[in-house]
Amino acid sequence: MIRIRKPAEPPEVLRTKGAKARRAMSAAYSRAPRSYASGKRSFEFDSNLYAHETVKQALREAQHRKCAFCESKFAHISYGDVEHFRPKAGWRQEGGEALGRPGYYWLAYEWANLFVSCTLCNQQFKKNLFPLQTPERRARNHKEDVTEEDPLLLDPAVDDPETFISFREEVPYALDGNARGEATIHALGLKRDELLEQRRKHLSLVKALRRLIELRDPEAEEARNQLQRMQQDFEEYASMTRAFLRGWPRNRSATRRPRKQQG
Ligand SMILES: [Zn+2]
Repeated sequence: MIRIRKPAEPPEVLRTKGAKARRAMSAAYSRAPRSYASGKRSFEFDSNLYAHETVKQALREAQHRKCAFCESKFAHISYGDVEHFRPKAGWRQEGGEALGRPGYYWLAYEWANLFVSCTLCNQQFKKNLFPLQTPERRARNHKEDVTEEDPLLLDPAVDDPETFISFREEVPYALDGNARGEATIHALGLKRDELLEQRRKHLSLVKALRRLIELRDPEAEEARNQLQRMQQDFEEYASMTRAFLRGWPRNRSATRRPRKQQG
């Protein structure tokens, strides 16, 4: 997971139709707050607004065509989901709990609340999870202030995920065991087997390039350029590659095996 910098200006559809829909939902909630909190009434959300092509396009660009959470590039096999950081239709503090209603309906078309993610991060793992460190501070309707909340999940548009999560080889871990890193790794399934396998493959290429440089191979210059590229935000798993190479001189001595005695 890396920091994501979205353009400050939201796409027009969110500023116009999205803002209008938000006002309508806020007014509807104010007329019948109990019905919405009990689930007797619920909001209908228009994916033509939050997942409008201009929104998707702006998010894809800001995210370097990677999943906001696992940093996988998926465009060649899947459309991906426009994901609401604060779940629009109901939240859970923990998996298995009943859904807290009505959810963050007033943020359904809010630029700051939207990301593009792969379907696994969104539908298999995060779903309606939105745990807070202090659950009593949760904003329950549009009159309450989400900036009072202390979310456990890292928001890649606000937090710098690399100061919370690092990697041992392909395996992510929370730096100094911090709670937000732990919660994020767990909630988003950042240690799932398939992802570990992809990262491991990626890392084996990083290691091979590094080896060429260490051996002063004739291709070392090209290898050095390639390693530079692989640490840029637009590359898959850039946070892992950066974490791995950050300790390079140390890794180099640690991973060099003693030569076997000949004869
Ligand atoms: Zn993902």
